[in-house]
Amino acid sequence: MSEKNKEQVIVRFPPSPTGYLHIGGARTAIFNWLFARKHGGKFILRIEDTDVERSTKESIEGIIDGLTWLGIDWDEGPYFQSEFAHEHKAAAERLLKEGKAYKCFCTKEELEAKRKKALSEKRDIKYDGTCRRLSPEEIAEKERQGIPYVIRFKVPEREGKIGYDDKVLGRIEKDYSEIEDFVIVRSNGRPLYLLCNVVDDIRDRITHIIRGQDHMTNTIKQILLYEALGAKPPVFAHMPLTLDLQKRKISKRTHGEVVSVQWYRKMGFIPWALVNYLVLLGWNPGTDQEIFTKEELIQAFSLERINKANSIFNYRKGDPKFFTDPKAISINAWWLRHLPIEEIAEMIKEDFKKEGIWDEAYEGEKREWFLSTLDLIRSRFHTLRDFARLGRAYFADDFEIEQKALKKNMLKHPELKELLPRLGEALEKVEPWNLETTEDAVRAFASEAGVKPGIIINGMRTVITGQLKGPGIFDVMVAIGKERVIRRLKDSPRLFEGTKP
Ligand code: GLU
Repeated sequence: MSEKNKEQVIVRFPPSPTGYLHIGGARTAIFNWLFARKHGGKFILRIEDTDVERSTKESIEGIIDGLTWLGIDWDEGPYFQSEFAHEHKAAAERLLKEGKAYKCFCTKEELEAKRKKALSEKRDIKYDGTCRRLSPEEIAEKERQGIPYVIRFKVPEREGKIGYDDKVLGRIEKDYSEIEDFVIVRSNGRPLYLLCNVVDDIRDRITHIIRGQDHMTNTIKQILLYEALGAKPPVFAHMPLTLDLQKRKISKRTHGEVVSVQWYRKMGFIPWALVNYLVLLGWNPGTDQEIFTKEELIQAFSLERINKANSIFNYRKGDPKFFTDPKAISINAWWLRHLPIEEIAEMIKEDFKKEGIWDEAYEGEKREWFLSTLDLIRSRFHTLRDFARLGRAYFADDFEIEQKALKKNMLKHPELKELLPRLGEALEKVEPWNLETTEDAVRAFASEAGVKPGIIINGMRTVITGQLKGPGIFDVMVAIGKERVIRRLKDSPRLFEGTKP
């Protein structure tokens, strides 16, 4: 086919708004979005809100917020499935009229009894087709009596198999004889997901359905519906499930907030870093590359490289060191170190405000200092929150001293109680205050005092940053500034209070 005649790619993300945006759902959205972007296609957001009891406004907002935060933009929608109820009903009516579906009056009790009997006789438990064989008179009579009914799809009586070529899994087939006459409309008149979804996909001219393997039980039935409704089925690509280390499906119930996109936002993730991580959770580029820009990912993405095997979400609940999969953290840390510092500055602004350490001058006369300080401290950080927490000493005077640093660098060296304030005094003479002058002054002081420079430097780091580790100490001194450094050194004896001399 020439490029011109090629059908435009149209994909969709149709979440059911019954909870927060799950990282598994986000991954589905991302794969569809990447595929659309790669092929110059269209990505539609469609909210499947027909389950009125379980759908909530908060969930819809959460999904939209989550996608927006991730930077996953859609070209059409959000459409709401509930607005097309008349089309779903009309499709069911049409199937009935064309003899491709039938009314089933079997009661729950009857069905249950048949199921049990079939089980005990070790027969297939699928619906036995009783109502498929009702005569028009019998149907009319039951309707006259007001017996409730569901509508079942009439699976064609054909020999052999029906199937499709899954873009990820290859050929998938099923024997016609194994497919039961499935319900498409409930007894309360409401069409089921299986049918609504197909009607919507036909209307939206969806060309590719990229969704989780958990939907594979629906696919063959849906292909039958396409055929019955006279439409060409789209291409299917079923993505692997995401399991935890114990091979359980990840869910909020079992794993808590760590599976919701909002959590990553709260924990200081860079949106693109989460996208980058989620894509690798189920897709591989065929190389070792792990870090992808948006353009690189769009370029590299293909359905064929979606993994067949389940993905492992490597998260150990309760491990205090890792609040999520360590790989997600390391990808985030990479982006934290490599994005233009102006972008990082924008991303941490709200957090600084929340923590009470924002200064309007950071966007005015202190801009240069602010950006260079963020740039200096980011190399050891893992999340955006680290700037306001681990880096607080650069922006405020009320910061905490890390216990480990206090013990190791201060309390083990009681001589510092007297030396650090003296160093503070000695530094008053340093002018100008730069990398060379501060280094010279500190080394001269250590040598005069007859202590190893390392002891002074570690003590000073603890006192002026509160941290055990950090960037080069003279860079730190310059960033924090003369006045603050001296004040903190002079104040430092209080840290020994309550400890033995
Ligand atoms: N509403 C379904 C879900 O959230 C959509 C399934 C599909 O992609 O067809 O799982």
